[in-house]
Amino acid sequence: MPNTETGAGRVDTPPERPLAPVLFGSPGSGKGTQAKLLVRLLGIPQISTGDMLREHVRQHDGVGTAVEAKLKAGILVRDEVVNSLVEQRLAQPDTARGFILDGYPRTVAQADKLCAMLAARGVQELVIHLVVDYNVIIARLTGRRQCPVCGTLYNLVSKAPKVPGVCDLEGAKLIVREDDREPVIRERLEAYGRETRPILDYFREKGKRVYDVDASHDPPEGVFRKIEALIREQ
Ligand code: ADP
Repeated sequence: MPNTETGAGRVDTPPERPLAPVLFGSPGSGKGTQAKLLVRLLGIPQISTGDMLREHVRQHDGVGTAVEAKLKAGILVRDEVVNSLVEQRLAQPDTARGFILDGYPRTVAQADKLCAMLAARGVQELVIHLVVDYNVIIARLTGRRQCPVCGTLYNLVSKAPKVPGVCDLEGAKLIVREDDREPVIRERLEAYGRETRPILDYFREKGKRVYDVDASHDPPEGVFRKIEALIREQ
């Protein structure tokens, strides 16, 4: 029965082997948006290391204090910290039928750890590379605004709020996420090129298939239809 935003049916029967879609792509490629649509389609949880780290910062706990400056500067957090957060998260029972990774792995060392964790759990990865033009990325990231109350993301170009500068849901004044300021955007994109992109070759060398999905021009629902088709092929 159709029950997702895209009108597609939910995949109710889990595959024989739990599936882990791995959303891969530059900052601003839409990983978080696609991850949320996948949660609704597959009924398995989203694991976003960015969200997890931001939550620790909000809580002002040990991890939060250690990583706060890095997040503000757009610098990657140490592999050991992120690997351990993901490992703890994967120990939760809700991941038994699979999970959606968004923003992890970000380095070859993380990819190596992930492959070991997936093998140990008998989980099949599905690496989805969201391919987006550089200029589109810049426009998306510089136009991004967020509600400080409910976290909803807007974009001045593609998803403007009804009243400029104000959240549709909360009425709160929208803010620019600290790491969406221009010098930080540059650092995040450089970190992606330097540390994260090489993972694609690492996966290919290990014989893992990487599915390229063009995510430059279609609206999120259009990109999602391509991802959904890949899922149904598995
Ligand atoms: P984006 O993909 O748009 O940069 P994220 O929310 O995924 O946003 O990440 C925000 C920040 O959190 C990154 O710039 C980095 O500092 C940190 N971070 C998130 N995931 C990881 C990771 N897997 N490894 C290291 N640092 C990470």
